[in-house]
Amino acid sequence: MLDVLLLIVLMAAIAIGYGLGYRQASRRASFNARSSYQTPRREYFVGLNYLLNEQPDEAIHTFIQALEVNSENVDTHIALGKLFRTRGEADKAARIHQNLLARPALSPQQNEQVQLELARDFIALGVHDRAQRLLRGIIETPQQDAQRISAKHLLVDLLEREKAWQEALDILLPVLKQQPRMARPAAHWLCEIAQQEIQQSSRSLAKRHLKKALQLDSACARAYLLLAELEIDNGHHYPAIAHLRALAQHAPAHIPSMLPTLERAYWLGNDIDDYRQHLSSLVEQAPLTSVIIRLSEQIRQQDGVEEAIRITGNLLARAPSLGGLDHLIDLYIESQQLEGRTQPDERLLLLKHHTRALLNNRTRHRCGHCGFSCDTLEWQCPSCRRWGTIEPVTGVEGE
Ligand SMILES: [Zn+2]
Repeated sequence: MLDVLLLIVLMAAIAIGYGLGYRQASRRASFNARSSYQTPRREYFVGLNYLLNEQPDEAIHTFIQALEVNSENVDTHIALGKLFRTRGEADKAARIHQNLLARPALSPQQNEQVQLELARDFIALGVHDRAQRLLRGIIETPQQDAQRISAKHLLVDLLEREKAWQEALDILLPVLKQQPRMARPAAHWLCEIAQQEIQQSSRSLAKRHLKKALQLDSACARAYLLLAELEIDNGHHYPAIAHLRALAQHAPAHIPSMLPTLERAYWLGNDIDDYRQHLSSLVEQAPLTSVIIRLSEQIRQQDGVEEAIRITGNLLARAPSLGGLDHLIDLYIESQQLEGRTQPDERLLLLKHHTRALLNNRTRHRCGHCGFSCDTLEWQCPSCRRWGTIEPVTGVEGE
């Protein structure tokens, strides 16, 4: 399809190129030499011919050939390359940038700028090893100008895609103070390393990495959860509970995510009364459906179904939710069975049928950045690739 914008830019670039050439020529050359600059090169007419015959690719190729590289129009070439890349034609962009690098007219700074663009082309083409080589070459020098910072960003992004967590950290950590928004991804990379270490039974190393993750991002729910699970696996339920208390304080959106681990910790210590007390304080902090249901279940086991119905009813009056209603119906059905009814009330069963159907269709987790939804919790959003943005959905239809 004819890309009018690209062709306009190319023609303008050629016109500027000739204009510059003409000006320079008029400064230093004779009339005869000057007149040769005023005559457009043959490629210009060939390109125009392609354009008129609606052959845009051939026209673009010919125009690029016509546009000579000099120190004044390097930016135009780079802009053309970017235009191709954004059109999804990174191979053409790479050709333009490789052609530029072959020219002796570039200053060292322009050379690095073109290398950076070529690395972006290689990333778009999926040729990551060549992109990495170029980027590592740029960041080798100790200066910290905008070009090197961009190169570091690109390289860190590449290493993250390849799950080379430690390599990404090695590049990022020395400059993290200037990039505070990268603290959260860095904390998750440390969690990734810790998970690998847990699998390899290096628990003390894992613990060290998780504590480092919390130094970088005190709201990293994942690090608190992993630390709590490590403590449970070591048979230490009090430290596990302390980590989960910190999680609830620093990352309250993840209270629903921590409830299974919290239950395991209290069961390990056989502290059922303390567990109930902990759930009650969590309900006061955030009356979330999943906390209310777990508290209700605890009351049912300890004080019976009627007490569970009474307290759950009161809590749901404060924080109504579909999941809470579904749980309350279960309690009513159990209550009727305990009264000696062989079959529960048909109306209750009908209500239960509807709440279940609605709950089955709900979204359980959602990315706060791009809106991606998923059933199980993902620490990196598969859609926007941000870390720690997916949280349990709360509210009337949520957890
Ligand atoms: Zn997302």
